[in-house]
Amino acid sequence: MGNSSFRSEIIFTDNLHADLFPLLSEYHDGKIFLVTETRVNSLWLHQNPYFLKIPKIILQAGEENKKLSSVASVWEFLSNGQADRKSLLINIGGGMLTDLGGFAATTFKRGIDFINVPTTLLSQVDASVGGKTGFNFNGLKNEIGTFHEPKVVVIYPPFLQTLDKFNFLSGYAEMIKHGLIHAPEHLQELMYFNLENIDYSGIQELIRHSVEVKKYFVTNDPFEKNIRKALNFGHTIGHAIESLAMEQSRTVLHGTAVAWGIMAELFLSSENCGFPETETRRISKWISGLYGKISFIPSDYDRLFELMKHDKKNESNRINFTLLSGIGHFEINQNCQKELILKSLQFLQNH
Ligand code: NAD
Repeated sequence: MGNSSFRSEIIFTDNLHADLFPLLSEYHDGKIFLVTETRVNSLWLHQNPYFLKIPKIILQAGEENKKLSSVASVWEFLSNGQADRKSLLINIGGGMLTDLGGFAATTFKRGIDFINVPTTLLSQVDASVGGKTGFNFNGLKNEIGTFHEPKVVVIYPPFLQTLDKFNFLSGYAEMIKHGLIHAPEHLQELMYFNLENIDYSGIQELIRHSVEVKKYFVTNDPFEKNIRKALNFGHTIGHAIESLAMEQSRTVLHGTAVAWGIMAELFLSSENCGFPETETRRISKWISGLYGKISFIPSDYDRLFELMKHDKKNESNRINFTLLSGIGHFEINQNCQKELILKSLQFLQNH
């Protein structure tokens, strides 16, 4: 991807078969391959006659399987199936799978086409769009990866019907972030959406609005040199929470950590960028109502600060934040003093 235009086609559908299969006609018989994971396979593909004819590799579900040996098994599968440069790989799964399958495709024979069919809310609104592929390595998340866009992303919201509430909320956090950084009306519709009784047909419009935001940033800055950094709002502190949870063998989903990160970074936005304090309190109350509270002890604060210092988005050893001056108005490359960062963690603890 050498220029700044957005190349992927994004298709929204409530008839997966009708919209996916015509896309395959430009590939020769025997040159189409599918990668999925155990959970998605048993819920959605296992007995689906349309997918039975396509050679398929099923990886173990779960973030811990986003690793080199899984990538190697996809390469082996493609190689043994005589895939060539005109072959296609279809990735069907959540963000773990679309990241990993995307990486395998972009490196096999220096790159073959791939189509992402995301099955979680997080992957529909975020991971499958934008061209970041990769896997975890040497204990570090997404340590190895490429920028390479899928040919097409096919978004089929009915997949979400089998998603548990925690994974649903995990994706919802990225949607909240999209609303906060660039789309006040999207934030508004998310606040009014009934999460107790999810309308799976109504969610399509919300997903569409969220994808529009992601697409805007990716189109204008595909390699994250400037404004794409806005998408990191909530993630500097969110990633530190995620890493701390991992160190303490606690399970905290990515989006949940991001939701807490958003609260703390809203506090920083009020302190440093003039984001209205009343809004910080109102939005934080809503978010903590959805995601609950995380409990820290004071020694965790210092550890969280240390983890922030290792964030790969930092430049010149300074912790790099994206903050907001208002809803829909972001400021990239913001630095904060340690004391203020610790205060933001205290704010998080108290709200
Ligand atoms: P995931 O793929 O691990 O899916 C979460 C869980 O949901 C898994 O247990 C999975 O088996 C299950 N699942 C998937 N689809 C389901 C369905 N339809 N019904 C029921 N269960 C289903 O994780 P995720 O939350 O989708 O994505 C997280 C990953 O995405 C991380 O690896 C993260 O690094 C990556 N990510 C990438 C980008 C990017 O820009 N490339 C952005 C954000 C996150």
